[in-house]
Amino acid sequence: GKFELKKKPTQQPNNDKINNIKTPMEIPKEIILQKESLPVFSAKDALLKNFKEHPTVIIISETGTGKTTQIPQYLYENGYKDKGIIAITQPRRVAAVSISKRVSQEMGYELGEEVGYCVRFDDKTNEKTKLKYMTDGMLVREAMLDSSLSKYSVIILDEAHERTLNTDVLFGLLKSIQKRREKKHPISGVYNPLKIIIMSATLDAELFSQYFNNAPVLYIEGRQFPVHIYYTEETQKDYVDAALITVLQIHIAHLTDKSIDKEEQEDGGDILVFLTGRDEIENLEKLLLDRIPRLPKGAKDLIVCPIFSALPQEQQMKVFEKAPKGSRKVILATNIAETSLTINGIRYVVDSGAVKSKIFNPKIGIDSLNIIPISKASAKQRTGRAGREFEGKCYRLYTQNTFEKLDSSSIPEIKRSNIANVILQLKTIGINDILGFDFLESPPVASVMKSLELLYCLEAISEDGSLTELGKKMALFPLDPMYSKTLIKSIEFECSEEVLIIISILSVESIFFTPKEKKKEVEDVKKIFFSPEGDHITFLNVFREFQKSKSQQQQWCFDHFINLKSMVKVVNVFEQLIKYCFSLKLPIVSCGSDFDRVKKSFIGGFFLNTAILQPDKKYKTMVDNKEIQIHPTSFLFEQKPQHILYNELTITTKAFARNIIPIEGSWLAEICPKYYGTRPQQQQKSTPNQTSIDSFTN
Ligand code: ADP
Ligand code: MG
Repeated sequence: GKFELKKKPTQQPNNDKINNIKTPMEIPKEIILQKESLPVFSAKDALLKNFKEHPTVIIISETGTGKTTQIPQYLYENGYKDKGIIAITQPRRVAAVSISKRVSQEMGYELGEEVGYCVRFDDKTNEKTKLKYMTDGMLVREAMLDSSLSKYSVIILDEAHERTLNTDVLFGLLKSIQKRREKKHPISGVYNPLKIIIMSATLDAELFSQYFNNAPVLYIEGRQFPVHIYYTEETQKDYVDAALITVLQIHIAHLTDKSIDKEEQEDGGDILVFLTGRDEIENLEKLLLDRIPRLPKGAKDLIVCPIFSALPQEQQMKVFEKAPKGSRKVILATNIAETSLTINGIRYVVDSGAVKSKIFNPKIGIDSLNIIPISKASAKQRTGRAGREFEGKCYRLYTQNTFEKLDSSSIPEIKRSNIANVILQLKTIGINDILGFDFLESPPVASVMKSLELLYCLEAISEDGSLTELGKKMALFPLDPMYSKTLIKSIEFECSEEVLIIISILSVESIFFTPKEKKKEVEDVKKIFFSPEGDHITFLNVFREFQKSKSQQQQWCFDHFINLKSMVKVVNVFEQLIKYCFSLKLPIVSCGSDFDRVKKSFIGGFFLNTAILQPDKKYKTMVDNKEIQIHPTSFLFEQKPQHILYNELTITTKAFARNIIPIEGSWLAEICPKYYGTRPQQQQKSTPNQTSIDSFTN
């Protein structure tokens, strides 16, 4: 039938009205027109028919067709909300937050009422919430509390092509939950089936369909204008620098190149640059801001809009605002803009060809963040972002030869990252046989074994693989097992207050900010907080001083080059973790200035991330003799203590350890007898392990 759009979603059943405190706002005409102009709109009836007929439906379409924003609304308007909550999972928190915001506007509700979001450390839903955008990780957590996910009537696994670890786990969990909920409840007689919708931006849906008993696959035709692709002649040493030059060239091209057509000249069109992370984005932002005042006469204004997950929400929303007439936006994004977020107005894409990716080394059992080449599929997606509304151009900052050699698609996370957390969660849900679990694609046996070993060394599971009391506690924290173990260890060492603060700080990307041209001043100010006891204690000092600054927080942050918004977030995370501790009756105790206790707690969780100083002033990891260095941003970069513990390893051309504390070598066997007790403390192999860093980078 014909679809009529409800102008005001007030025409709801009466019982709804009674609870309806806020009436929805009038929906602007342009929003209604925009919704109806999306390709998904014409597929609405077909979609609803399939939802009705099949327990599981797979939807494939180009980015920007309207899947994420519209399909949940169709379900909402067609009775599904009366059977339970409609959940839409997203691999990234930024997407969950910003899309729910958009959808609540489209429907004329306040965010957090009928439409809300739920991401780690931030839940904006209430008892009225019917459309719930959430990270895939949060839904896995919910399954730990209610293994039937009974409050959900429909669960949409969005961005399934990304194949994140959590989405892959959800595939398995939802399949078994759906099966269980197909039947009437044996005692209550309640019939509460679960509908599963899988949405993906790439065409290889066969795997999904087979997994779900040949579920139907619906293709929605998107709109795609031609995009002209340019490659570099030579391989670029520094793609940030190459991106800078490319952006500026695009921006002023119309001044010299008369061949650029009139339409392109007049409305310009925005530029989208793909980089790998916050550091690069902020770096390019600085470089651009530096060059903008010196643009030639006749050039338009250039507005720089960064977007990455650690960016405060208000600033994230800036990328969606239209650039004022006579100006142009340049958006600097991580691969969040590849398929998760649709940004209108893009005509040019600049593609670094790189992405940050978590890689698990099953030899030693830890993850590292590596900057690696993207796949052909990613390159194609990135290019596509330039041709959604008009013809576009894509500048690949690599050679055509390099492109030809890229992998055709990227390896799913489950095959390349640490699954200790997943195992802990599955065991909490009651799934003990990990190797026998019905995964969409199974993790490598070696990595399952290594993760089990890690959990055993962390004392989260016992020898027969069952969860220990400690393991049950660890699973309750919304933290990786290494962090939750550290936290629980800190209770034993009576320093939980300090460890909670440090973990909260480590949960944000950086608490410092370095304005351009003030590097020297920043370094001087940072020295105030410095502690030779390690980066963690330096962070702690910042937090303590921040707390003292009370009513002058803003000024204090400004004076000390501290990011106020990050600090506010840290405080918020800290408060939430304290709540978890209270609910588990774990005492919050301070160790004063006895920081050895803090260090020992961290050894409890991060005993695999340790390294010893070598005569050449570099470090070798204790578990596999790999060469690493302290990252220059660490406060211990100059000091070079004998033994270090680090929280993070980033591998670019070299392996860099971040967030360092000096430790005593003798503590290792004392705190982790399971791992270090039976081994010599300093593993000195005669031949260094050659598989190490080289095999990571290529
Ligand atoms: P898909 O999921 O198929 O990639 P989306 O539902 O994300 O598509 O996007 C559909 C449309 O909604 C796009 O045209 C996009 O520009 C628009 N949109 C999404 N978020 C916002 C926002 N925050 N502000 C304005 N428009 C938005
Ligand atoms: Mg989408």
